[in-house]
Amino acid sequence: MRNQTQHFINGEWVDSTGSETIEVINPATEDVIGKISAGTKEDVDKAVSAARKAFPEFSKSTKEDRIKWLNAIADGYKKRSKELIDVMTEELGAPLSISENVHFKMGLAHFKQAARALDSFSFSEEKDGHTLVKESIGVSGLITPWNFPTNQTSTKIAGAIAAGSPVVLKPAEKTPYAAMMLAEIIHEAGVPKGAFNLVNGTGDEVGDAISSHPDIDFVSFTGSGGVGEKIMQNAAKTIKKVALELGGKSPLVILEDANMKKAAKTAASNMFFNSGQVCTAATRILVPKTKKDEFEEAMKEAVSSYSMGNPREEGHTAGPLVSSGQWDTVQSYIQKGIDEGATVLVGGTGKPDGLDKGYFAKPTVFTDVTNDMIIAQEEIFGPVISLIYYDDLDHAIEIANDTIYGLAGYVFGQDPEKLRYVASNIRAGQITVNNAKTDFNAPFGGYKQSGIGREWGEFGIEEYLEVKAVLGMPS
Ligand code: NAP
Ligand code: MG
Repeated sequence: MRNQTQHFINGEWVDSTGSETIEVINPATEDVIGKISAGTKEDVDKAVSAARKAFPEFSKSTKEDRIKWLNAIADGYKKRSKELIDVMTEELGAPLSISENVHFKMGLAHFKQAARALDSFSFSEEKDGHTLVKESIGVSGLITPWNFPTNQTSTKIAGAIAAGSPVVLKPAEKTPYAAMMLAEIIHEAGVPKGAFNLVNGTGDEVGDAISSHPDIDFVSFTGSGGVGEKIMQNAAKTIKKVALELGGKSPLVILEDANMKKAAKTAASNMFFNSGQVCTAATRILVPKTKKDEFEEAMKEAVSSYSMGNPREEGHTAGPLVSSGQWDTVQSYIQKGIDEGATVLVGGTGKPDGLDKGYFAKPTVFTDVTNDMIIAQEEIFGPVISLIYYDDLDHAIEIANDTIYGLAGYVFGQDPEKLRYVASNIRAGQITVNNAKTDFNAPFGGYKQSGIGREWGEFGIEEYLEVKAVLGMPS
């Protein structure tokens, strides 16, 4: 049992001021794997005051020191790879290979990338005879979701350390243990006490205390739109800057000249990736009408080559959903799709054969979907995708942009002019052409209701900085 009921404040593990605890569940077995504290507003106050005390020195630390800390964190993180991979499989239910090759590696990449970006980052420049200085924004509050336990926390922490901003982190209550390991790694890397603080607990109590705290200058949040709205409202009272990484309903536009088998494989990999619990998932697959039959055949075949199952058994590409609540949500969306008249091409409601224990949902492909259906408009956050058919490329763009979201977009095909045309007309923060590789220095964030701000690499550092213009500085 992982009973870790302390918070990390001012360089040490301390007891919570409250006595309530929260159980953490392994979603693949439904077993309780441990407890954490349900932190209180007083815990947040203590963490904020430690961060505030650390601010004067930490914000003036040199670039060399910050690079040293980031690299030392990366080293410590690598040393604990086995434990991190194991804990993510336990708390999130990700197959071991995915915990290693996706979750573990993404977390590591952000620390290394921030160190690299910092090396060439300029905190001061001369412009039009004035000096422009970039300074730490102050104390930052970080609130993260459960779907990528190390990626979501690391990208924020790395940017904050690179910028010299002390932080108070509230990780998701469903996946707190990877974040608690990070606290130890950060401490052992020599990051000054008070610069990194972690308070566990619920969003309603700890998250709310962070977003409304008068002594926090910036809140970086990743999660749902509804909570993002509350955070903005709270932050407004003390005019805090907010960065919001919210949901998506991203389109994958398949061109007529695409190899339909390869295109279907790309669509299926989006569906299985992290069991569909991915904000950038391509959940609306836009297929030329002329290719309907061919694509549907290819899609059925592609899905059958992936497998879902016990995350500790080798050979599975996906595990369960994170919780029973998430399972219920996904089921209700699948039912809504059926009720709205979409056709189930693969999957449907219920649990996959042989997977009665654990929050496993059937990978589901809907076809004959129209973009006004609920399943095409709302984020499902599960292994469910919709096939929507288009007449010509302008029709595809119209459908692609007919959404409140704008986090990501994908285009698959051959004609360079058409690839460019689609990439330049989708209104979203990141467009991927033909399975291009992830770049941890490329900005990540959303247009429209997918959020405000950009993370990753040098854009991620900028989030934690203010710009000061100094006029008339003697040279
Ligand atoms: P969520 O409810 O928005 O939770 C995200 C984080 O916010 C958690 O740490 C949560 O605490 C906390 N929180 C909840 N209520 C809060 C409040 N009133 N004030 C401050 N913080 C609060 O999202 P979720 O249920 O964990 O994740 C599912 C949804 O998040 C998805 O449907 C998707 O839309 C979105 N998402 C987006 C991204 C992205 O990168 N854009 C990534 C992951 C998820 P608890 O621990 O108590 O829940
Ligand atoms: Mg929640």
